[in-house]
Amino acid sequence: MIKQVEVLIVGGGPAGLCAADAAASMGAHVLVCERFDFPGGQLVKQTHKFFGSEHQYAGERGFQIGQILTEKVKANPNIEIMTDAEVLGFYEDGVVTVLHEGKHWKYKPEKIIVCTGASEKFLEFPGNDLPGIYGAGAVQTLMNLYGVLPAKRALMVGAGNIGLIVSYQLLQAGVDVAGVVEAAPKIGGYLVHASKIRRAGVPIRTGYTVKEAYGNGELEGVIIAKVDEHFQPIPGTEEDVKCDTLCLAVGLSPLTELLWQAGCHMAYIPEFSGHVPVKDENLETSVKGIYAAGDSTGIEEASSAMVEGKIAGYAVAEALGYQKEEAEKRKKEAIAELTELRSGDTGAKVRSGLAKMAEHRIMEMTADGMGELPGELAAKGGNC
Ligand SMILES: Cc1cc2nc3c(=O)[nH]c(=O)nc-3n(C[C@H](O)[C@H](O)[C@H](O)COP(=O)(O)OP(=O)(O)OC[C@H]3O[C@@H](n4cnc5c(N)ncnc54)[C@H](O)[C@@H]3O)c2cc1C
Repeated sequence: MIKQVEVLIVGGGPAGLCAADAAASMGAHVLVCERFDFPGGQLVKQTHKFFGSEHQYAGERGFQIGQILTEKVKANPNIEIMTDAEVLGFYEDGVVTVLHEGKHWKYKPEKIIVCTGASEKFLEFPGNDLPGIYGAGAVQTLMNLYGVLPAKRALMVGAGNIGLIVSYQLLQAGVDVAGVVEAAPKIGGYLVHASKIRRAGVPIRTGYTVKEAYGNGELEGVIIAKVDEHFQPIPGTEEDVKCDTLCLAVGLSPLTELLWQAGCHMAYIPEFSGHVPVKDENLETSVKGIYAAGDSTGIEEASSAMVEGKIAGYAVAEALGYQKEEAEKRKKEAIAELTELRSGDTGAKVRSGLAKMAEHRIMEMTADGMGELPGELAAKGGNC
């Protein structure tokens, strides 16, 4: 049996929950499918206080933001959240298959919003399959969600915010952090996070990489080395770091399999960390009725994922004919909020990605014979 649904949202992270809230607040009926046993996405394991604007709950801890969003969504009778529900595929006849509690279900949504988030990147080096080598997010999940101490002595790779924050959380859990190595010449994350771990005596070695990992059946140590200007290890600079855990915090990749499967036009945009769907100012992809928001469309932060979710949710409500004027007004307010979030020095990378996205849209529209882009959108670089 195929179940009809008005709006199907894939993923119950901050983007998906905010999309659900926005669409349902206008009157649309929404089903959120979340593959884990609980909604919240990455937020559920984040015990640190978030930065940003008070509109996106700055000052609250990540998991508390997840709870606030989940309670709001659960209180709305127009929204059903289905957990243990993994969306497996989109098909040409508009059917979406879902694996829920061990059974396959078919849904036919009028609109879909993809909010699947991201997965951790890995590094290639000899010995990288030894037990004891994890993504930093996995270590964070073990510690903060399941209360499992993952290491006695750990080495972190990557001095972006994730590497720095998880290093601090390892220290809080009582793990001896041997150091942070970072191939780039400078620390990528906020200095406030770097200062906290430095004050605890953890060295941050910029210009270093992992050359190999070794151990007899499990990780016993890691050889690190300085890198040259091509990020290649410089012979003779090797150092042996004894540790039982190596955490890789070397970036995230947007989770886009469903969008590829649906035939959405995809573009490689390094600023967004990989291939992402080309989308318009409503966050609608090239496949009509499929929208996308959050990290699955480019790695940013929870704050922008939430606002993108709102934009997609209001756009979907508007397209379905719910309170069109009000939905459009709120969508425009959310677009202004997102523009504000992406302003200033910290937003420069995202703005550069958006400019490339706008070029892809122009190429796409020209190829489709859809004529010129509206001048305003072309000038702004789109809001994609
Ligand atoms: C260590 C760390 C620290 C961070 N610190 C901050 C910070 O201080 N401030 C900040 O703003 N941001 C921070 N972030 C980033 C922030 O957590 C993410 O940008 C945000 O969670 C992205 O939201 P999202 O909804 O797009 O994706 P996610 O939070 O990843 O949620 C995606 C959801 O989709 C589900 N899903 C995926 N595929 C399917 C499928 N096929 N079917 C059903 N469900 C599916 C996943 O299970 C997940 O629940 C941090 C991230 C990390 C890892």
